[in-house]
Amino acid sequence: MNTQETIEMMRSVAHAMVQSEPMLTKFDQAIGDGDHGLGIERGFSNVEAMLDESFSAADVGQVLQKIGTKLLSTMGGASGAIFGTLFRAGAKSIAGAPQLTTEALAQFLTAGLTAVCQRGGASEGDKTMIDALAPAARKAAELAELEFEQAIAQVVEAAEQGVEQTKEMVATTGKAKTLGERSLGHPDPGAISMSLILKFMAEHVDAKVAV
Ligand code: ADP
Ligand code: MG
Repeated sequence: MNTQETIEMMRSVAHAMVQSEPMLTKFDQAIGDGDHGLGIERGFSNVEAMLDESFSAADVGQVLQKIGTKLLSTMGGASGAIFGTLFRAGAKSIAGAPQLTTEALAQFLTAGLTAVCQRGGASEGDKTMIDALAPAARKAAELAELEFEQAIAQVVEAAEQGVEQTKEMVATTGKAKTLGERSLGHPDPGAISMSLILKFMAEHVDAKVAV
């Protein structure tokens, strides 16, 4: 997928993330302070507006880096820093890439994961977006030889399984940690957002194939 196609895909991801606000709000009301949906809506509506016809970028890395900067400056909350860091650090690792291949995606997710863990101090099993991101990064690395369009559905599946697993976890970080055991049974809202970003990539790719 070239730079222009990546811009188009990320525009449709941003649009769909904005539409997901009510669902994300509901999940953050269950175990957090209820603002995650609004943060995602704010961040990704700014991203969608940025990725208009006049937007240009030299390469795929720059598209993702500009998205990260926009999220960091507009989203707010703990997750603004977290998702901003994912995109910026991930993008830095594929700076200059002319194509979004599965290998580039794997590199993006892996470097993003490392940076998110450093920035927020959480790790896998702490009931955060890391629990969707880490399995997605591993699956992308495993499928690095496949075309992006062929691999993305399985990467989504790995992230969604990660979301399922967060239901069994007790939050030890962020606002949900005050709930302790009461966070059991509920998925982590940030993990849901992480899996949705990947899912909307896959849906965009599928919609293009269907045309
Ligand atoms: P806030 O916690 O400031 O209210 P949001 O509600 O927007 O922020 O986002 C909460 C989500 O952010 C959580 O569901 C979790 O996935 C993610 N998150 C919070 N803290 C961390 C962290 N230290 N590392 C990774 N993800 C985190
Ligand atoms: Mg919150």
